[in-house]
Amino acid sequence: MRQQSLLAETAGLPIPGADNTTRVVEVHERLCREYGCPARYFHDIDPLSELISSMLSHRTRNQDSAHAFRQLRERFPDWAAVRDASVADVQDAISACTWPEQKAPRLQSVLRDIATRCNGELSLEFLRDWPVEQARQWLERLPGVGPKTSAAVISFSTIRGKALPVDSHHFRVAARIGLIPAGMAVGPSHRILEAQLPAEWDAQQVYDNHQVIMKHGKKICTHQQPRCSACVVLDLCDYGQERIGAAAGPENTLD
Ligand code: SF4
Repeated sequence: MRQQSLLAETAGLPIPGADNTTRVVEVHERLCREYGCPARYFHDIDPLSELISSMLSHRTRNQDSAHAFRQLRERFPDWAAVRDASVADVQDAISACTWPEQKAPRLQSVLRDIATRCNGELSLEFLRDWPVEQARQWLERLPGVGPKTSAAVISFSTIRGKALPVDSHHFRVAARIGLIPAGMAVGPSHRILEAQLPAEWDAQQVYDNHQVIMKHGKKICTHQQPRCSACVVLDLCDYGQERIGAAAGPENTLD
């Protein structure tokens, strides 16, 4: 069954946590002061290249997926050549990333699908002129493309559109602060977190929100040992306060 856009799938339904905007803005402003806004876009690539890059990055360290992407660009003259190569050659080129044996046929399948849907043309430039939600729905009908990847294509590529990608760091921080309901899966969290952002924010502010929350997750609100006592949003975070409170004695050793 084709994957439907989560944004479209849940359109019109009540959004849990949609009244969180004031807290979201407070968190955003504090983290912007901490990490610096506006954040610089980390690369300048066209939407199809961003799609490939995002697919390679799934559960892979940034430097490894960047290496795999560079290898693809160096070994093949264009995306049509990647599509038409042997699976083994593509797999070898992207061996630096996780699960190359799954990602190679998936990349080729996506490239074939795009060519079929675009009368043979391998380009996603047309999405630049589409409304964001429509563009995301189009992307999410490609095999293996979900809301994180569709948002990345819209936001990180030269489209520079207004969409909020939610990676594992962003998701963890948002869950701990209580911006999403406990136990929510990452897929539906995209719609919840995006709906909490002020409607008047532009694409740069939405990008900044992703960047500062992600950086906070990498530097302070880490997976294993969040440094709650050094956190600038501790007073907004019940999880962190409970954790601090649970630490034994006045000299808590959470850091
Ligand atoms: S207080 Fe702790 S758990 Fe809460 S956001 Fe900060 S580091 Fe994360």
